[in-house]
Amino acid sequence: MKVNIGSIRELRGSSVRFQGEQAIESLNEVEELGLKLNGPARIEGKVTNTGEGFLVEANLSFTYEANCSRCLEPFQTTQNLQIKEEFVPNYNQVEDDSVFTFQGDIIDLEDCINEQVILALPMKFLCDADCRGICPMCGINLNQRQCECTVQDIDPRLEKLRSLLPTEGGGSNGKPNK
Ligand SMILES: [Zn+2]
Ligand SMILES: [Zn+2]
Repeated sequence: MKVNIGSIRELRGSSVRFQGEQAIESLNEVEELGLKLNGPARIEGKVTNTGEGFLVEANLSFTYEANCSRCLEPFQTTQNLQIKEEFVPNYNQVEDDSVFTFQGDIIDLEDCINEQVILALPMKFLCDADCRGICPMCGINLNQRQCECTVQDIDPRLEKLRSLLPTEGGGSNGKPNK
């Protein structure tokens, strides 16, 4: 995604709007996370000549597929994020690595977008913030149905009922023979 700022280069305080798409190359590096990007990121915003540089303010959105780290089911989600980054012309001889530079009239947003997308990814991929995950005992997806192993653990009435059943020891009242 490249933005031509030629029309505002000498006009401090004025802005130029832009919109477009950017392929996210940086996600290839995190493929081991099982992440699959559905098409390029979409970006829309403006660049303002601040006098010292050019301030890029934009909304970015991208859609990806991943496997939920709790229930292991694949899901798709669209993430939105905001970018606010100053670009300075590289003839200013900036030695600060933390600012982006550009040459001529063209601001290339590719590196900036790649960086922001990586930073925006969650530490854990969840199909839903309330995902109930899978039962560690029987392995069923607890979002779809409740299993009995969980009920046993939390329902005292069932616990009592179970004590009435004969156990493997074979004694009466469920108590094993000594
Ligand atoms: Zn899930
Ligand atoms: Zn279970």
